[in-house]
Amino acid sequence: MGDAMRVAGRLVIWAEQCRGCRSCQLACSFAKNAEYNPTQSCIRLDRDLQTEKTTPLILPLRCDLCGGQPACAQACTYGAIAFEPAAEFAIEYRCGGPGEAD
Ligand code: SF4
Ligand code: SF4
Repeated sequence: MGDAMRVAGRLVIWAEQCRGCRSCQLACSFAKNAEYNPTQSCIRLDRDLQTEKTTPLILPLRCDLCGGQPACAQACTYGAIAFEPAAEFAIEYRCGGPGEAD
């Protein structure tokens, strides 16, 4: 998908908040393809071998921010994904959690 079709905005990932439930992955698949299929999702969940934690990775070339209402952020009940206004398209990984200093 080309940048011209994307809305401006920033998808923020608070990886430390992730519990590995995969709701975001399935929500993205359903939003984009009307089916619950992890292989059709813009989100991959990788296990960090050092911390043994699961971390969401957004595939930036496939993500279009859902037109400004990200299905992944709405699906995450742990506050690990958020959408912020921004002048340009961006996906950003931050430490800690919302409301904490980096
Ligand atoms: S980011 Fe949220 S919805 Fe996605 S796997 Fe982690 S806890 Fe679940
Ligand atoms: S914002 Fe991107 S990663 Fe999240 S559901 Fe939409 S397309 Fe998928």
